[in-house]
Amino acid sequence: MALINDHYLKLKAGYLFPEIGRRVNTFCEQNPSAAVIKLGIGDVTEPLPAAIREAMHAAVDEMGNRETFRGYGPEQGYAFLREAIAKHDFQSRGIDVSADEIFVSDGSKCDTGNILDIFGADNKVAVTDPVYPVYVDTNVMTGRTGAADESGRYAGLTYLPVTAENNFVPALPESPVDLIYLCYPNNPTGTVATKDTLKQWVDYAKANGSIILFDAAYEAFITDPEIPHSIYEIDGAKEVAIEFRSFSKNAGFTGTRCAFTVVPKQLNGKTASGETAEIHSLWNRRHCTKFNGVSYIIQKGTEAAYSEQGKQQIKELINFYLENARLLREGLESVGITVYGGVNAPYVWLKTPGESTSWDFFDELLQKAHLVGTPGSGFGASGEGYFRLSAFNSRDNINEAVTRFQNVVS
Ligand code: PLP
Repeated sequence: MALINDHYLKLKAGYLFPEIGRRVNTFCEQNPSAAVIKLGIGDVTEPLPAAIREAMHAAVDEMGNRETFRGYGPEQGYAFLREAIAKHDFQSRGIDVSADEIFVSDGSKCDTGNILDIFGADNKVAVTDPVYPVYVDTNVMTGRTGAADESGRYAGLTYLPVTAENNFVPALPESPVDLIYLCYPNNPTGTVATKDTLKQWVDYAKANGSIILFDAAYEAFITDPEIPHSIYEIDGAKEVAIEFRSFSKNAGFTGTRCAFTVVPKQLNGKTASGETAEIHSLWNRRHCTKFNGVSYIIQKGTEAAYSEQGKQQIKELINFYLENARLLREGLESVGITVYGGVNAPYVWLKTPGESTSWDFFDELLQKAHLVGTPGSGFGASGEGYFRLSAFNSRDNINEAVTRFQNVVS
């Protein structure tokens, strides 16, 4: 009989969101008339910007014409999109990233998981705690961990707690690590990293020969001019970091699917025999072998995100969600809840009131207010006693959610 990958059996009962879905479904079956408001999963609600839709329509028409029809495109993405990304996201901010360092893909979830293909199984891996669960689960699946303990922490991974006690700034690892996942603006805490914090990490990576996997999926939500948008704003970061970006949350692409990964030419790892190896060429090889490119229609739509109209429409979307975050934050604070994040990020991270655990609070909010959020402990042991609310929703739902929330806790 065929053998399975036993590492999958180490995964905890399920990914966080299926468990939330199960509890919500049970509640809805028992309370069919309840108008449940979901602020759990971080999925966008507002429609695609007009500039993007128009570009996609035009691309569909091109595909319907023999002269302009396209088949397979370059696996790394069309030059028009890679050049637009390099120019608008990096070069116009004075950051030296070139088009051939950009790999267009169908999502940062896939990229942050797939990147492990090109790294040795024996690397020591560090994640913050709480953390976007995909980083942990993909390490488990690829055999880089032992079993989970009762708190859900896997043997072999280095966990760096981020809580109110350390102001959500992870301490540098006590013993050396080779791969470090950093996510800023952070999911789930909604907090950001200053230039000094990122510099510490870049210096650490240089001193230890480590590589930083920097997830900037929420970069567009940064409003504070002092906060870096890219890790490459830090001198020397191109020698030690890969950056992941996504159009899911800024341009409303969670269902449309487009993202990119920056793999600098200067970034090196080493072979088992100790020779230096270019990470860029490994990722290029991996990408071309296992991925056949994002559809032309989607890439044309994505390119339009960088037009003057597109930029303006995206800015309006971001401002809309940030205003939702402000309403959530201030509405909760007004009834004495301690709240973090939600200023440079679409997530509000709150302390659960009293002694309630994250899941207790989840159940209470669902039963009494018909509101769904995400229990902090689902993101890691250090998330216990916290709770995440997403600002991705309609204004009416956000206002209604704030009122219901206030009624439950006051
Ligand atoms: N990275 C982080 C930190 C996220 O929170 C998410 C989605 O919620 C993703 C990546 C996934 O992005 P994508 O839709 O591009 O796969």
